[in-house]
Amino acid sequence: KPVEELTADEAAEELERLAATMAEYDRLYYEEDEPAVSDEEYDALRERNLAVEARFPDLVRGDSPSLKVGAAPSAKFRKIRHALPMLSLDNAFSDEDVADFARRVRRYLKLKDDAPLAITAEPKIDGLSLSLRYEKGRLVSAATRGDGAVGEDVTANARTLPDIPNRLHGEAPDIFEVRGEVYMTHADFAALNERLAKGDDPAAEEADEPASAAAPARKVRQFANPRNAAAGSLRQKDPEVTRSRPLRFFAYAWGEASEVPGRTQSEVVAAVGGFGFPINPLMMRFDDIGGLIEHYRSIEAQRATLGYDIDGVVYKVDDLALQNRLGFVSRFPRWAIAHKFSAQKATTVVREIVINV
Ligand code: NAD
Repeated sequence: KPVEELTADEAAEELERLAATMAEYDRLYYEEDEPAVSDEEYDALRERNLAVEARFPDLVRGDSPSLKVGAAPSAKFRKIRHALPMLSLDNAFSDEDVADFARRVRRYLKLKDDAPLAITAEPKIDGLSLSLRYEKGRLVSAATRGDGAVGEDVTANARTLPDIPNRLHGEAPDIFEVRGEVYMTHADFAALNERLAKGDDPAAEEADEPASAAAPARKVRQFANPRNAAAGSLRQKDPEVTRSRPLRFFAYAWGEASEVPGRTQSEVVAAVGGFGFPINPLMMRFDDIGGLIEHYRSIEAQRATLGYDIDGVVYKVDDLALQNRLGFVSRFPRWAIAHKFSAQKATTVVREIVINV
């Protein structure tokens, strides 16, 4: 039923249903690394939930998906409370949404229409985010995003990634948290699935879930897509299994820092590159919306040949003083937005296959 035709009672009922359904989808996606529906279906539910809430603001529930980030950390891992929350990103689905974003930023900052406003654009890597804490240059802990406030302790697993230095290079601040995305390339993903199908993987030896009538013991899982393969491979109980999985990392953000090495997003990301992290070569800075959109189109055109999944382009206000003034709303920063690629161009998501051996 169109949102405009809903009665308040129907809206309340629908919001309750959406909260329950999406909480279950979140659990399957984040905790089990086994999505029940495609991202497009999931995003459509999120948009529907937002539209109903916009029409009936009094009915917004405490457990609404529009207020939540990710899902609670799994009991399989020790927990780490993030010194600074790890949030999600607001979405833009059209050029007009991007123009609205820039207008909102200008209005909030009371900037004139012709005042300069530099914004960066970079690929939105389809993996899972990870926060790496360095003290005196040494890696001391690594945590997944979890529900944004508390993540899963995957320190031993993160140490096995060749892209993650155990010691920061050069002069690093006393405390510095590097944040970025763990991902898997298409080629590595295909090879891993092939290996899993043959039962040639250390994880095949450990019973992932207890045996039951419905799920016999010794399952070898193949992964639905590189994102789930990355999440499932990082979130292993045995770090040696993680070591055997070809995981990579791009750094694009930071958390707590005793000193921030730069005054802009681009400067700090370049500094993080200097600390020894891979940073994405397609990150660029623009002074106008036209440049952003052009870069978006160019990244979209390169999408099929990048060798790893991306699901959009992230724009971020470059000046950190402006970022600070803009701050955050419930689940995302006001200074950034993810410009998603349209659904029909999205890569096909293959359903997870479970092979019993
Ligand atoms: P999101 O993935 O759309 O955006 C936020 C995340 O983008 C950040 O946390 C970060 O990890 C990542 N990111 C990648 N590159 C980045 C960059 N360059 N700069 C900044 N961040 C970058 O939002 P979300 O809240 O993590 O999750 C929603 C996504 O997960 C949607 O795509 C949704 O479809 C999917 N999802 C799917 C299901 C399902 O059942 N299919 C369930 C839950 C979530």
